[in-house]
Amino acid sequence: MVLNITDLYQWLALKSEHKSRQLLFATKFLSTTLTDDGRYLSQVRSRLTPISQIKSKYIVDGSGVHNSVLQSLGLGEKPARTGVNIEYEYPIGSNKIDHAILFVGSAVLSGYGWVFPTADGKLRVGVGVIYPDTTASPKTLMESFLNSSDVHRFGLELTGEYTVDAGTIPSIAYDPQLVFGNVIRVGDAANFATPTVGEGIRICMENGSNLGKALGTAIGTKSSEPLKKIRGHLQKEIPNKLSL
Ligand SMILES: Cc1cc2nc3c(=O)[nH]c(=O)nc-3n(C[C@H](O)[C@H](O)[C@H](O)COP(=O)(O)OP(=O)(O)OC[C@H]3O[C@@H](n4cnc5c(N)ncnc54)[C@H](O)[C@@H]3O)c2cc1C
Repeated sequence: MVLNITDLYQWLALKSEHKSRQLLFATKFLSTTLTDDGRYLSQVRSRLTPISQIKSKYIVDGSGVHNSVLQSLGLGEKPARTGVNIEYEYPIGSNKIDHAILFVGSAVLSGYGWVFPTADGKLRVGVGVIYPDTTASPKTLMESFLNSSDVHRFGLELTGEYTVDAGTIPSIAYDPQLVFGNVIRVGDAANFATPTVGEGIRICMENGSNLGKALGTAIGTKSSEPLKKIRGHLQKEIPNKLSL
């Protein structure tokens, strides 16, 4: 799925606009503890305000590869294998708008590279490698690719101002344990991204939404049954998706 990420995040945030919710921007979750009354007391810090505390019955860990909440509670660790990616976005120029390229081999050992046109007139060129299978820096591989004859061989025109996006995703098998009492993990924090090509957006959105609905029902009915059911549902669904 090739998407405009900023528009997608704004669209996702708007989906809860009519609900009672508070968005805390530029705010970092620091830690949480389970208190005697079975609730969680979490510390957060923003750029503008000092550390503040939030008390909650449930916590959803959607912190991606960081597993911030699970780590804080000693319930999980950062994944041992990760996909480390870098992507440059160029003006589309004379590049073909209906051609995508995937490349493997000596240019990106222990990973792969990609070239995707976007719907808004850009060309994304990226490489991703698996750590610790390699220690090669994706940025170095990207620069070598850009300076190589492959650019010409693939018929690419990579000129003009470009933006850089980089990040890390888990690259380990799906683990069906999603619910730890009143702590639930979703998305990359639950290794939803496929280990084969690192595609995560569609799976994280779909299953995050299903988990959110199950949590809503659990809160409304004061029963943990909906969360137990969704775990079984995802256990069947996700391995099927991974084998597609
Ligand atoms: C360069 C790159 C290209 C990709 N391309 C594609 C693609 O083309 N198609 C596709 O399907 N997938 C792609 N992926 C994978 C996809 O982006 C992920 O699978 C998906 O974003 C996972 O969503 P998520 O919300 O679970 O985690 P994330 O998108 O990682 O979001 C987690 C958020 O939590 C925040 N966070 C972490 N710790 C804390 C903390 N302590 N306090 C506050 N916030 C915290 C992070 O800053 C981040 O914003 C790509 C990934 C990368 C890195």
